Amino acid sequence: MPLEIVTVPCLSDNYAFLAHDAASGDTAVVDAPEAGPILAELDARGWTLTHVLITHHHWDHVDGLADILVQHKATVLGAAADAERLPKLDIALAEGESVTIGGEEGVVLDVSGHTVGHIAYHFPASGVVFTADSLMALGCGRVFEGTMPMMWDSLSKLAALPPETVVCSGHEYTAANAKFALSVDPGNRALTSRAKAIEEAREMGTPTVPSILSEELATNPFLRASDPDFKAVMGMAGADDAAVFAEVRTRKDNF
Ligand code: ZN
Ligand code: FE
Repeated sequence: MPLEIVTVPCLSDNYAFLAHDAASGDTAVVDAPEAGPILAELDARGWTLTHVLITHHHWDHVDGLADILVQHKATVLGAAADAERLPKLDIALAEGESVTIGGEEGVVLDVSGHTVGHIAYHFPASGVVFTADSLMALGCGRVFEGTMPMMWDSLSKLAALPPETVVCSGHEYTAANAKFALSVDPGNRALTSRAKAIEEAREMGTPTVPSILSEELATNPFLRASDPDFKAVMGMAGADDAAVFAEVRTRKDNF
């Protein structure tokens, strides 16, 4: 049985996710932007938290943790490489190491760039990856701490996952991301129709996260940096993938 995934809106535009294994009762939360909505969702479902999977050190992903742990004695996991900036970890993880939720193994990917020490959690059997502020719906996190080639390398790892993978990212930034994406890739029909669907979803107050990796590959300009057609659209035919990514990221920073 695949993990049951529940999206939990937090703060003004953050998402946490519950991942529940029905057979064992194990329940993980990915990130802890604020305690209230996460505790309420656990209560409503009668689930007890067993694991907290932290993606990176930013306050909007960890500030709810202490209050959650008062009510749930969960094991806290996060990146060994960033342990000194994260809340106290019970298990410190490096790339390639695994996390077990019930019967299912998740694999840790180093997706540094937004921060150095940002990790993602990929659960292959359930076909889901938790990316927080690395790969986002139609976007990617701003490169605050790492380098452009580092972020490109991180996005490339995520792009190589099975295309049907469900991408659970950390923020509802998709409508703004769509405006930018259309500005750099106006001739992309898949993007035009996705942007319309996003607009409709947001009018209804429906989350646009999670998304599917295949739609990101077709429409997310940050993943399209390796596509020769997109390079031509960017006026960078023949350029390095990482250089095209850096140009797209720089244009977004200035958009
Ligand atoms: Zn962040
Ligand atoms: Fe964030």
